[in-house]
Amino acid sequence: MTILETQTQRALTDDLRARVLGPVLRSGDAGYDEARSVWNAMIDKRPAVIVRCLGVADIVASVQAARRHGIALSVKGGGHNIAGLAVCDGGLTLDMSLMRGVWVDSAVGLARAQPGCLLADVDRETQLHGLAAVLGFVSNTGCAGLTLGGGFGYLSRRFGWTSDNLSAVDLVTADGRLVRASERENSDLFWALCGGGGNFGVATSFEYKLHPVGPDIIAGAIAWRGEEAERVLDMYRAFVAQAPRELTCVAALRVAPPAPWLSREVHGKPIVAMFVCHSGRLADGAEAVARLKAFGKPVGDIVQKRTYVSQQSLLDATQPRGRRYYWKSEYLRGFEPALFARAAEHAGRIASPHSAILIFPIDGATNERSEVHSAVGNRDAAAVINIASAWEDARDDAANIEWARAAWRDIRAFSTGGTYVNFLTEEEGPDRVRAAYRTNYARLAEIKATWDPENVFRTNKNIAPAAT
Ligand SMILES: Cc1cc2nc3c(=O)[nH]c(=O)nc-3n(C[C@H](O)[C@H](O)[C@H](O)COP(=O)(O)OP(=O)(O)OC[C@H]3O[C@@H](n4cnc5c(N)ncnc54)[C@H](O)[C@@H]3O)c2cc1C
Repeated sequence: MTILETQTQRALTDDLRARVLGPVLRSGDAGYDEARSVWNAMIDKRPAVIVRCLGVADIVASVQAARRHGIALSVKGGGHNIAGLAVCDGGLTLDMSLMRGVWVDSAVGLARAQPGCLLADVDRETQLHGLAAVLGFVSNTGCAGLTLGGGFGYLSRRFGWTSDNLSAVDLVTADGRLVRASERENSDLFWALCGGGGNFGVATSFEYKLHPVGPDIIAGAIAWRGEEAERVLDMYRAFVAQAPRELTCVAALRVAPPAPWLSREVHGKPIVAMFVCHSGRLADGAEAVARLKAFGKPVGDIVQKRTYVSQQSLLDATQPRGRRYYWKSEYLRGFEPALFARAAEHAGRIASPHSAILIFPIDGATNERSEVHSAVGNRDAAAVINIASAWEDARDDAANIEWARAAWRDIRAFSTGGTYVNFLTEEEGPDRVRAAYRTNYARLAEIKATWDPENVFRTNKNIAPAAT
């Protein structure tokens, strides 16, 4: 670290301590290492300063201070982004984890969530009213990053992207102003926030449209032996093609973990698992999953009446914080038989018992709006495939990364040409960001030039401001 850097950082710290209410942390302070840690242990970044924001005024003061001192800025919502975009080396990180309030207005079916909320925080409050927001599959993911990148989960086939179900965002802009974006106010900014990531400012609250769901639904997990993959995946293709929109069935090819719901004899052996969620009426749900439950000889079946909240956290244990992770992902144009054959082949060469190939159907409501409806686009995608490597020891990095890359090279032939921005890894650069937005990229770059011409918000999958 140069003397100049040290002086800038000291001045920034003094400035922030005079202006914000929340803790201002530097290396060596209690809580600094916890605040800089993220879900993916491959990421080890050391911000010069971390502000644990206590309110919107702290966010405004921090953005203004970062600009005054000419220092890079990053925003940490849930810290779940695989590329570690929440933290930045030598810059200022805004940690939102002390801002996790959720307010539900059941009369109008809206929830307002602060930027540090995890999915579980929102589900917990909305389910008190028998309502749900469209969020993701793992309950300790951050709402902010998920929503700003588009977001999909068990309710997407029915209601669209998370961002299709967003009614407003409050935001601190690059020049430190507090603005509201919705279809009526700053509508160009709102269009960009529905998928364009953290490129346009720091979101201080999200307003979600809610839907009646649960509290009890038919949902859970079911699995078959890996040797039966071909037959099971054939059934899966037919099953998802006919599934009502209330039903989402995620397929996972992996090695069975020692989970109590799986028969002991398959622990450590290949399985095809499915995570199933019917968000409609119980009787309809029971009927919709009957064919799945009757197929072959499952080695575990916990598809049953359960709470929506329990389904939302069913996958949490498979994705613990602190492992090493590397993903490769594409949007799929359909459920082609050859795709499943290739996926099963690569699953057979899996390099770690924690890794998986996951297929998330997102057809239905997501496909109904036009490509230009909002920045997220990719309305032609039938599903998302994620080749998800996960392991524990740094000495195994090369083998696990290469397994994911090899499977991806093969499976790319089935892509729409698009990829999900929130699944991009650290190494995936401008060409992959363009692939994430495709024809919407040019408009995003123009809106970026209006709202953040100096690219203050660049610790993200960056959209460069269009040349004026
Ligand atoms: C285990 C796991 C499961 C997942 N499941 C799903 C899923 O089911 N569906 C899905 O759609 N995605 C899923 N994702 C991807 C997820 O959407 C992204 O990882 C997302 O970035 C997580 O949000 P976060 O707030 O935790 O991000 P963080 O890591 O905290 O931040 C990532 C980036 O988001 C931006 N950001 C965060 N907060 C703000 C803010 N307040 N204002 C402006 N920008 C901000 C910043 O640019 C930051 O650089 C999953 C990820 C993981 C690790």
